[in-house]
Amino acid sequence: MSAVRVRACLSFDIDGLALIRAKRALGVDLPDGLADLMQRDQTVYFDRLLGFYDRLGVPQSVFIPTLTARAEPDRVHRLIDSGHEIGFHGWDHLPFASLDAAGERAEFQNSVDVFRAEFGVRLRGMRAPSYGLSDRTPENVIAAGMTYDSSAVAEFLPQRMTRAAGGYWSLPTHAQLDDWAHCVHLPRLGYDRPMLPAAQVLRVYKDTFDRCYAEGGCFVTVWHPFVTLCDRYIGVADALADYIAGHTGVVFSTLADMADALDAQRGPYSPQDGAGISQAARITRA
Ligand SMILES: [Zn+2]
Repeated sequence: MSAVRVRACLSFDIDGLALIRAKRALGVDLPDGLADLMQRDQTVYFDRLLGFYDRLGVPQSVFIPTLTARAEPDRVHRLIDSGHEIGFHGWDHLPFASLDAAGERAEFQNSVDVFRAEFGVRLRGMRAPSYGLSDRTPENVIAAGMTYDSSAVAEFLPQRMTRAAGGYWSLPTHAQLDDWAHCVHLPRLGYDRPMLPAAQVLRVYKDTFDRCYAEGGCFVTVWHPFVTLCDRYIGVADALADYIAGHTGVVFSTLADMADALDAQRGPYSPQDGAGISQAARITRA
């Protein structure tokens, strides 16, 4: 059995209307039409995500603000029933640094409670809204019993984070794997570069995967249904999934399962030896 070289998760953030609420609360002047687009993000594009994951055939991770999940309970239940993981993404997408200590703690605790009571799942990990951690976030991750945080924008190597109260894995994302960077033109929100054509976006993702494959580590996308699954870019996600699956030594999983696998390796992460990992090296796709 060959070693696991890359652990991949094609994760999505479904911000939906919570993003609009948060930006307004922060006093951001929103472009016309963005609210309609975010409404479709949590409905028709959410449905496209369910279709994409059905084709992928492997459980993956989705980060949803608690308010957005509550607004779309049927879709969230379909996601969970298909075996996918829901991760914490703030109560209403406000950056943690904009909250006071009690407010941030309450967002964690209330979200854990809502997902347990209303959706029957335990939140095992998180991605901070807008990647924004506060100084208090690590303690809240540990207190909430989460095993990973996927907020760091770094390269490919996971890092064990430890505090007096315990620890968790930082499973990094990569700046080139955030679809906003290539596919969104919203100057008022700071995205003023022209949108890249789909073929060029796919090229960026494949090149980034090639670097990850050469170095070994975690390949984690930060995609959004209204961006990556819109008509202009439809097909990019499937093409990248096919490309990745064509490599040996790649395991697709949820980020929670990725954290568990890293725990099972016992000791510092060493992508080259993959010792102690007994999963099949090459995934089988439905
Ligand atoms: Zn988000």
